[in-house]
Amino acid sequence: MNRVHIKTYGCQMNERDSEAVAAMLRARGYRIVGSEDECDVMLLNTCSVREAAEQKAIGKAANIAHRKKKNPDFVLGILGCMAQNRGAALLDQLPDVDLIVGTQKFHQVPDYLDNLRAAREAGVPIAETIIDIAEEAGSQNTIKDHYLPEAGENGGGEVVPQVNAFVSIQQGCNMDCAFCIVPKTRGDERSRPMDDIVAECRLLAARGVKEITLLGQIVTSYGRRDYAHTDGISPFVQLIERVHEIEGIERIRFTSPHPRGFKDDLAQAYGRLPKLCEYVHLPMQSGSDRILKAMNRPYSRERYKEIVDSLRAVRADMYFSTDIIVGFPGETDEEFEQTRELFEACNYDMAYIFKYSIRSGTPAADMGDQISDEVKEHRNAVLLDILRKNSERRNAELLGTVEEVLVEGPDKTGKRFTGRTRGNRVCIFDANPRLIGQLVPLKIERGSVSTLYGELVLEGVDQMNGVERSPRPTF
Ligand code: SAM
Repeated sequence: MNRVHIKTYGCQMNERDSEAVAAMLRARGYRIVGSEDECDVMLLNTCSVREAAEQKAIGKAANIAHRKKKNPDFVLGILGCMAQNRGAALLDQLPDVDLIVGTQKFHQVPDYLDNLRAAREAGVPIAETIIDIAEEAGSQNTIKDHYLPEAGENGGGEVVPQVNAFVSIQQGCNMDCAFCIVPKTRGDERSRPMDDIVAECRLLAARGVKEITLLGQIVTSYGRRDYAHTDGISPFVQLIERVHEIEGIERIRFTSPHPRGFKDDLAQAYGRLPKLCEYVHLPMQSGSDRILKAMNRPYSRERYKEIVDSLRAVRADMYFSTDIIVGFPGETDEEFEQTRELFEACNYDMAYIFKYSIRSGTPAADMGDQISDEVKEHRNAVLLDILRKNSERRNAELLGTVEEVLVEGPDKTGKRFTGRTRGNRVCIFDANPRLIGQLVPLKIERGSVSTLYGELVLEGVDQMNGVERSPRPTF
C-alpha cells in the first residue's frame, strides 16, 4: 500500500504543493508512481478558482472511488483548495473518500497515510474520513521540499536533471477581489522568512537548478509586514536581489505580481539584474475602470498601461502575459470593448482568459446582472483571436534570430529536446543530452502559435555558460 499517484488541478502553486507532498511522502518510504492504474493511494490536489475546476475533480474522484469496491484497501484523498472550500460537505457527493486535507495541512499527509496504512494492516476498520482543514500558524514554511524522480520512478526512465524549480515565497492573499475564492481557500497572506527562501534557492543551485520561479498569490506584497524598505527597495525586490547573487542560478522569474504593488523599484530591477528574465505576468482582469472598481482591484486602466510602458521603457523587448476575466457581473459591451482595446494595446504574448464563474461566498456571487454564457463565450473568443495573432506576429519576428534557450530535457516524443527562451517561449530542437541544464544559442527557423523550432548554434554554447574553451559537443 505504498504506491502513491498525485493528480494536480489548477495553478503553479498547486503544482508546487503537490511536489512538496511527493517529496515528503518519498522521504517517508512511499513510492510516487506516474500511472493512476498502478497506485494504492490516489491523491487529487484540487483547484477552486472556477466551478468547472471543482466539478472536474469531483467527477474524477467519483470515478476513482469505484476502485474501492474491488479493493477496499485503496485510499482516495482530496487535497488543497477544494478540500478547504468544501470540507466535510464533499462527503455528500463522495462518501468513500478517505482523506480531506486543506491548504495549510499538506505536511500532515504522510502522517495521515501512515495512520490509514497501520489501521488497515492491523485489520482495524476505519469508520470515518480524516478531515483536516484547520488553519495552522507557520504553515507557509512547510512548502519547501523538492522532489526529483529517481530512475524508473514516477513513470520516467532515466533521471533528467532538474533545471528549473518553483519556490514558494508566500501563502494566502489579503486582496479581497470580489470574484475570488482564494482568500477563503488559502487564508491570510503569510510570507516565508527571506533567509529560508534564499537557503532553499542555494540548495537548488547546488543540485544543478538554473532557473527559479518565485511563487505567491501576490508576490509584490512579499514580506511587507516583516521587512522594511531599504533605499526605496521593497522586500520583494530585496529578495530578488539576494536570489540573483546565488552562483549557478542563471534565470529568475516570478508569479503573480499585483499591479498595485508593481512600483518603480521592481520595474528598474529589470534594467540592473540581468538574471531577471524579461517576461512579466501582470494580471489585468479588466480594462474598464468601473469593472475594476466593482472587482475591488485598486488600480485604473491608465495606471495599468503606465506599468506596462514603464517596463517596456526599461526593456523594449519585454514579453507580457496576463489574466483577464470576461463577463464579470454587469460588464456591458462598451466595458468589454475597453478591455479589448487595452488588451490590444498591451500586445500580450500569452494570456489566461477566464469566463467569469460564480464562486459562492464571494461578493460578486450576489451581484445582479450576471452575464449569459453566450456573451462570455463571444468575449472570450474575441480576446483569444487577438492573442493568437499577437503570438504569430511575435514568432514571425523571431524567425532567423538567435535566442538564448535553457535546455530542460527531452520533448514529449523523447526524440528531440525542449527548452524555453528568456521570454518563456517553448522551443523544440535536436541536441545532445549533455546540454540539459545549459544555456544554448538557438537559431529560430519555424514557429507555430505556441512553439518555436530551431537549430543550435554550437559555437556559442560554452561561452554562454561561462566556459572559455572546451571541446565542442558531438552529436
Ligand atoms: N493572485 C493573482 C491576482 O489576483 O492577480 C491571481 C490568482 S487567481 C488564482 C488566477 C486567476 O483566476 C485570476 O487572476 C483571475 O483572472 C481568475 N479568476 C479568479 N476568480 C475567478 C472567477 N470567479 N471566475 C473566473 N476567473 C477567476
